[in-house]
Amino acid sequence: MGSFLTVCIHRIPQGKSVVVPRSKCPSCGVQIVWYDNIPVWSFLWLRGQCRMCQQSIPFRYPLIEIVNGLGYLLVVWRFGLAWSTVIYAGLFSVFLVVTWIDWDHQIIPDLITLPGIVVGVLCAGFWLPTGWGNSLMGLLVGGGVLLILAWASPFLFGKEGMGGGDIKFLAMVGAFLGWKAALLALMIASVVGACCGVALLLARVMERGQYIPFGPYLALGSLTAMLWGNEIWTWYFNGLI
Ligand SMILES: [Zn+2]
Repeated sequence: MGSFLTVCIHRIPQGKSVVVPRSKCPSCGVQIVWYDNIPVWSFLWLRGQCRMCQQSIPFRYPLIEIVNGLGYLLVVWRFGLAWSTVIYAGLFSVFLVVTWIDWDHQIIPDLITLPGIVVGVLCAGFWLPTGWGNSLMGLLVGGGVLLILAWASPFLFGKEGMGGGDIKFLAMVGAFLGWKAALLALMIASVVGACCGVALLLARVMERGQYIPFGPYLALGSLTAMLWGNEIWTWYFNGLI
């Protein structure tokens, strides 16, 4: 799966199929044989180089595979072995792909989020504890809050805030996990994003007004909401009331 994700991350932003053709070395164009295409292992075996042209293979490939594997372990550890765990694992992969694509290209592709919304409602209704009603509420709240923010931010901050991709992404998260999770994801994303932004400004890595992709933060917030949403929600709002 992790290996497939690296293909998705590479090809989806270019509008290419993720199924065909088989993987080639982007440097010399030679098709990669199956025994050189074994996740993580082949990278180590080939010492991070193409067998044909010795061009180095970016470290991100084994990294994505390892992170995805660790993510699945985390999901199984949290939810046990059940059908819903398969869906949560799939969501983890979606979060990983969105993080990477948004980081690279500053977009969250509709090709992921729009089918994701439909699949999310179906999964929530049939297999997840979310349920139909909560899923539709999540879709509306997740999409709606960001839509209002996007509409209002030129007035409030004098510049464009959210991208359309962020809006559809949070709508998808709401469809899978419900409205509380969508709100929680946004809160976590905003807090972590603001802290990182300030830290980057202070460290002078970044300049004021420079664009930071919000997708990685939304994905991190969504992951946290997926894993511990109920606990955080209860803890936070019981403390308030
Ligand atoms: Zn090559």
